[in-house]
Amino acid sequence: MGLFNRLIAKVRGATSASALDWREIEVELLAADLGPALVTELIDSAKKIRGEDPETVIKEILISKLSKKSRTLVDNGKTNAILVVGVNGTGKTTSVAKLAAALKTSGNSVLLGAADTFRAAAVSQLQTWSDRIGIETVSGKESSEPAAVAFDSAKRALDEKIDFLIIDTAGRLHNKNDLMAELGKVKRVVEKVIPITDVLLVIDGTTGQNGLTQARIFSEVVDVTGIIVTKLDGSARGGVAFAIESALNIPIKYIGTGEGQSDFAPFDPESYVAGLLA
Ligand code: GDP
Repeated sequence: MGLFNRLIAKVRGATSASALDWREIEVELLAADLGPALVTELIDSAKKIRGEDPETVIKEILISKLSKKSRTLVDNGKTNAILVVGVNGTGKTTSVAKLAAALKTSGNSVLLGAADTFRAAAVSQLQTWSDRIGIETVSGKESSEPAAVAFDSAKRALDEKIDFLIIDTAGRLHNKNDLMAELGKVKRVVEKVIPITDVLLVIDGTTGQNGLTQARIFSEVVDVTGIIVTKLDGSARGGVAFAIESALNIPIKYIGTGEGQSDFAPFDPESYVAGLLA
């Protein structure tokens, strides 16, 4: 992605750095969605670098800004429930399928709950995915209550001793109270049956700082334990990943890099940072 190439070049030739050049770099870093606070800190730190390898220093600064929390899913050894939340269009349903496929590949039994009942397309999309992956999806009748579907899926997961139940939720965000009421209800009914071990928030990597706003709202409504950043295959520079982690201390757990089932990987901070600096 080469996000920091110019910054590093600038630091290497520090004697010729003018104020204007720094401003240009600042604009570029802001365009990469790192967010103003982090950009200011990076530039301030970079300006002080003398005699050290700037690339190493910048890499260290970035890594130090990332969350120290675990990036792996909780596995309680019994039936785990994962709620997947996020705004419509971010890639939530696709990510549910990709995560299911990844968990199945590593030897787990997986069940899906299609609780995004407001969009008929979301339910059939999930059904298509689960047929392809070779797992089952619990869905309700059209316009059934999301919480009712979530509850049914939790009961079935428990009865069948499933390792991971993954619940796709509705992503309507007109208002925080609605969202809170709905996700709260889904959470409560599932937890009557099995514990929710992770709440994963899906953020579209191309939405820039808006992703940070979404992350703030969702984390006020539910206890988000991890983030999936999607669409990092395109021209997205994905700097919002840093903005979210450093602002909210929510670890990114997975990244989506395409529309296919295997375009999905655990988030690796070292290689992500190296990729930004490459
Ligand atoms: P939802 O409304 O949040 O459930 O979003 P969907 O899962 O339906 O995805 C919306 C669109 O984004 C679909 O066309 C997906 O194929 C696409 N999509 C999802 N994840 C990725 C990704 O990592 N990369 C790319 N390029 N497209 C993605």
